[in-house]
Amino acid sequence: MSRQVDVDHIVVGAGFGGLCTAIKLQEDGETDFVVLEKGPDVGGTWRDNTYPGATCDVPSQLYSYSFASYDWPSSYSPQPDIQAYIKQVAEESGTLDRFVFDTPAQDASWDDEAQRWTVRTPNGTWTSRTLTIAAGGLSEPRLPEIEGLETFQGEIFHSARWDHDVDLSGKRVAVIGTGASAIQIVPELQQTLAATGGHLDVYQRTAPWIIPRNDRPYSRLERAALRRVPGLQKLYRTGLYWAHEAYVPAFTIEPRIAAPARKVALANIKKGIKDPELRKKVTPTFGFGCKRVLRSNTYYPALDADNTELVTDPIAKITGNAIVTADGTEREIDVLVVATGFYTTELPVAEHVTGRSGRTLADRWRETGMAAYKGTTVPEFPNLFMLVGPNTGQGHTSMIFIIEAQVAYLRDALRRMRSERLSSIEPTEEATSAFNRSLQRRMRRTVWTTGGCDSWYLDAHGRNTTLWPRSTVDFRRRLASYDADAYRETRLEGAAR
Ligand SMILES: Cc1cc2nc3c(=O)[nH]c(=O)nc-3n(C[C@H](O)[C@H](O)[C@H](O)COP(=O)(O)OP(=O)(O)OC[C@H]3O[C@@H](n4cnc5c(N)ncnc54)[C@H](O)[C@@H]3O)c2cc1C
Repeated sequence: MSRQVDVDHIVVGAGFGGLCTAIKLQEDGETDFVVLEKGPDVGGTWRDNTYPGATCDVPSQLYSYSFASYDWPSSYSPQPDIQAYIKQVAEESGTLDRFVFDTPAQDASWDDEAQRWTVRTPNGTWTSRTLTIAAGGLSEPRLPEIEGLETFQGEIFHSARWDHDVDLSGKRVAVIGTGASAIQIVPELQQTLAATGGHLDVYQRTAPWIIPRNDRPYSRLERAALRRVPGLQKLYRTGLYWAHEAYVPAFTIEPRIAAPARKVALANIKKGIKDPELRKKVTPTFGFGCKRVLRSNTYYPALDADNTELVTDPIAKITGNAIVTADGTEREIDVLVVATGFYTTELPVAEHVTGRSGRTLADRWRETGMAAYKGTTVPEFPNLFMLVGPNTGQGHTSMIFIIEAQVAYLRDALRRMRSERLSSIEPTEEATSAFNRSLQRRMRRTVWTTGGCDSWYLDAHGRNTTLWPRSTVDFRRRLASYDADAYRETRLEGAAR
């Protein structure tokens, strides 16, 4: 199909970020936009991650838009509830008629003469004044590089692409990875396999810090109060926000502040595991918070169960039907679940976005490392806004807070473009390097740098290009208004000041 459609704004991705952009554009009267989504529905992360036990690590009232409350059934929401929430917000927003599903953006390029973006998809081409990339920071599954992985003859799938057609009853299942998804999957799998005579092997490279999760269904009374008492939901959300924000100094200024939380995590191990050898194996050897701190009450008991083995010897290779570890042990399996995370420091979308000077974002970042101005805009890439861009990630609170702050910045930039009749804006190299120099200077003090771990936060050069090293209050303040001084602005031809 070779149709071409011209619009004012293109948004790529229909997760929390893309939907928030669509809603706020519409609120500002910017109704000429399209949201291109490669999947069949809204939801992003919460459409794709349907593995058993998939749950949010941030309480429901905080892990939701500030402008759209909901009748949450429990304190931490499982994936189906979050997906239902996103769908409800999308339907009520009246923007869905501008979402185009099953339409991957294959590449995007800036035409400096026309001052427009062109985005190609298998279903046609769209051109626009602005391009917002909301393609997600944890969206593209990453498989581990293990010899023989492709020769495995049994069932194999990534945690983010769970194959619900595979019957696990009585099977020998292996999970590779002990990160955020794995620790949610393992307790569910262990129970299913225990009930059907199956066995579970969990392959751990590094043990994560895990604190308890105070997860519970809300009572009818609580739900009614949260629904009906004016301002209560907002007040509760504010309380949760500050309780989470209190973690920031421990991660970014003085790791010793985390000592009480570290004690809670150690007590969690003691409570969940009886076997002293196993306790030793799951005790992290790096600073609290250096890798994402996880929450679970059920992971440790699942590891301690009779039908589970925690394997800490490194994996040497995979054969047709088994995993072989470095000590030569071969463990036969029927099903392999790969829970090894996502491409985070080399965002796949960067290979396909070409800017003013003819090079891609990936070309630029190979030189400078993944970096943006305020995590949102990039020199050489006019009118491009990246949601959940470089150094915007959070280990302690809701990413939706960050997304909303970025969308507020985008709206203010558009206001300026309208009022000053600008055809394009682009952050200067000076402002971008100054911003990133200061950010990386600050990063040196954080537990992510000093904590002695190797994590997915770091790129190949050991530089943290994923997390924000200050408070989210600070992030929101910096993005509260568009700062023209940091930008190169081009006026529409013939436009008077
Ligand atoms: C298992 C899991 C658990 C998480 N738990 C938490 C949590 O507890 N708290 C928290 O704050 N965050 C959590 N996150 C992070 C979560 O990703 C963010 O909170 C949030 O969902 C990000 O929204 P987004 O719109 O930026 O990205 P996504 O939700 O990833 O959406 C991106 C969308 O872009 C689409 N897309 C990508 N490339 C293209 C393309 N080329 N063309 C068209 N469409 C494209 C994708 O299909 C997807 O729909 C979790 C992530 C995962 C994977």
